[in-house]
Amino acid sequence: MALIVQKYGGTSMGSPDRIRNVARRVARWKAQGHSLVVVVSAMSGETNRLIALARDVSPQPDARELDAMVATGEQVTIALLAMALKDMGVPAKSYTGGQVPVRTDSTFTKARILDIGDSNIRRDLDEGTVVIVAGFQGIDADGNITTLGRGGSDTSGVALAAALKADECQIYTDVDGVYTTDPRIVPEARKLDRITFEEMLELASLGSKVLQIRSVEFAGKYKVRLRVLSSFEEEGKETLGTLITFEDDIKMEQPIISGIAFNRDEAKLTVLGVPDRPGIAYQILGPIAEANIDVDMIIQNVGHDGTTDFSFTVNRSEYARAKKMLEEEIKPHIGARAIEGDNHICKVSGVGVGMRSHPGVASTMFRTLAEEGINIQMISTSEIKISVVVDEKYLELAVRVLHKAFGLEQAAA
Ligand code: ADP
Ligand code: ASP
Ligand code: MG
Repeated sequence: MALIVQKYGGTSMGSPDRIRNVARRVARWKAQGHSLVVVVSAMSGETNRLIALARDVSPQPDARELDAMVATGEQVTIALLAMALKDMGVPAKSYTGGQVPVRTDSTFTKARILDIGDSNIRRDLDEGTVVIVAGFQGIDADGNITTLGRGGSDTSGVALAAALKADECQIYTDVDGVYTTDPRIVPEARKLDRITFEEMLELASLGSKVLQIRSVEFAGKYKVRLRVLSSFEEEGKETLGTLITFEDDIKMEQPIISGIAFNRDEAKLTVLGVPDRPGIAYQILGPIAEANIDVDMIIQNVGHDGTTDFSFTVNRSEYARAKKMLEEEIKPHIGARAIEGDNHICKVSGVGVGMRSHPGVASTMFRTLAEEGINIQMISTSEIKISVVVDEKYLELAVRVLHKAFGLEQAAA
């Protein structure tokens, strides 16, 4: 019999009825003789509510206290699920991250998992108990509660599966698998039976929030068998969801593009009239990096008259801080002419391992956007992805036309 880690997200845990529904599914797997570790998220909306509450009291809440507070969302759902299972006659026990323990570093609000103690869980599993673990949280070396970043319960689930060498990690959510793009934007999006780790990693890092990026990294590194499934399918009508797999496992001919991702949380900054001399990129981006602001795309134009323009993108939440730094510290220091900014942009990306062997993907993408009159502001490519920055108002249109242009609506050949 197998050892299975199941993770249930916020929508799946969103009401007493839904929690009982999760309990019934867990009980069915248990009845088949499997050992179960169940990782849960807070009820949908709860983490947002707690963060808003903290900001209401303190505009820039202390990170340690914020973590202590937002971790309570998951503490509620572990206990509720354990109660529901016990009422069904299934032995179950809930654990906070600290009780497991899930040990992390001390980077509050985006802590990294260092290791997981498995003796408590193994003892309970040996006794036939279902172990329920609070996702999204851990404990640092000083006993502080930490959290793993938004969407972090996926990573808790995969990390536990890796630590326990589970046979499979099942991520139950409100869609029945990974789609060619977010089905909320393109209803014609198609469910993928399989996707490679590499592609899933790109999709997650380019904005497809169906899996937290770190969970995919973990699963790839520790070879965790990872599956995305729906928690809403009725008994007897369950499907197999999407298996995240290694490229060699996919025997069929690969489509050129497997999926379209998008990210609204983007903003662009341009430094105009920068003296065109060695070291200028470092003088602009060095202080930005020191301030812990992540930079994504970078463009430096060809210089003329001894000056050039330099543009880069940051997360929209960092836009104001980065712009202020450019205006007050960097511009006077390097002698640039002006700073421009735009926080109404978005990034749309096509991802597919098939791009490696098929030239022309970029030109299809540019033609498709041109035909719709969508202006491309920035471009970046890697071996298996191509991303463009466009005005935010074109996001849905761009995703829809690209999805169609790459034939993602039809069944794979
Ligand atoms: P959970 O609360 O279960 O963790 P999330 O909201 O984090 O659920 O992730 C599921 C959502 O991800 C879906 O409802 C869907 O709108 C969105 N999503 C974005 N891109 C994709 C994609 N390519 N395939 C499937 N779902 C996607
Ligand atoms: N509850 C946390 C969040 O909303 C973690 C998660 O759901 O994965 O980000
Ligand atoms: Mg999620």
